Amino acid sequence: MNRTDIINISYDHPGHATSSAWARVPLAPAPEERLELIARIRRMLTLQDAVLVAHYYVHPDLQDLAEETGGIVSDSLDMANFGHLHKATTIVVAGVRFMGETAKILNPEKRVLMPDLAAECSLDLGCPADEFGAFCDAHPDRTVVVYANTSAAVKARADWMVTSSIAMPVVRHLAAQGKKILWAPDRHLGNYVQEQTGADMLLWQGACVVHDEYKARELVELKVQHPGALVLVHPESPRAVIKLADVVGSTTQLIRAAQNADARVFIVATDSGILHKMRTLCPDKLFFEAPTAGAGANCTSCSHCPWMAMNGLQNLAQVLETGANEIHVDPAIIPRAVLPIRRMLDFAKTINLPARGIGNV
Ligand code: SF4
Repeated sequence: MNRTDIINISYDHPGHATSSAWARVPLAPAPEERLELIARIRRMLTLQDAVLVAHYYVHPDLQDLAEETGGIVSDSLDMANFGHLHKATTIVVAGVRFMGETAKILNPEKRVLMPDLAAECSLDLGCPADEFGAFCDAHPDRTVVVYANTSAAVKARADWMVTSSIAMPVVRHLAAQGKKILWAPDRHLGNYVQEQTGADMLLWQGACVVHDEYKARELVELKVQHPGALVLVHPESPRAVIKLADVVGSTTQLIRAAQNADARVFIVATDSGILHKMRTLCPDKLFFEAPTAGAGANCTSCSHCPWMAMNGLQNLAQVLETGANEIHVDPAIIPRAVLPIRRMLDFAKTINLPARGIGNV
């Protein structure tokens, strides 16, 4: 039986009072158990003809295991594309549920497993398909653009899916055609894209529980302590925090910025899981988490997604050994849900943006 901590989480659910959810976070295994689990997982990946694809926000052990066993650590679309191109018949997704669903939509013939199917995302939870459908019905003149962090059913209602790296070019492309946009679910990313493009955008008012917590005033104070530091910010953060950024971008773009910048010190406003990759790639540079817990903060996640934290060595080993936690997407939805994803991928080719690194959360 896995030992877990239960964390209660409040998230924004537009049109409702703030809603509640939970996450069960596995407790860290003892050192000898950790090594034994890693060995078991390596063995089972081979036996099950499986490949491990992990998000930048999951535990460093899972990130390292993915890369060491021929899988990938990246953003969700990259994860799905990689699983699609890989010859393995089983894809194990260490991330949150919408990532498993996206992998299944793009690879319906493959088995997709996840360490814990209850790993949610506040953006996905705060945008249920029926409520979103009603919002779309009320604005039939708008082109529906949804972020990757949505359920298969919401994607099936959309015209386009975007990730944070390609959101701007897609919205500019639509605006140039005179299209008005209905955007969901992240309001901060939607505001940022609207400000940058000037497009007519009607926004669903969701938010990420991690990025919504970054605090501008405390970030200014941290910058004073580290005057040469470059501030890297994910655009799911509040506008006041984005305004303090030297670089605004997706996870992949922020990692590249850390690698390419001359600066030696960075303040990073995105999930702290990304620091593992940044520190591995840039061992001579210093990375600080952007502040979340200043005056007035109500931090349930403290710069780390409680649902990403649900991915652990124990439950990963278990699903590989039992075949439990398979992702299923209604086959009737897949042909419609894949359309906005394919539209984005085709558009990416026309602007020479490689699928690798399109980025998302
Ligand atoms: S970090 Fe935020 S956007 Fe990413 S999965 Fe967690 S809640 Fe969702």
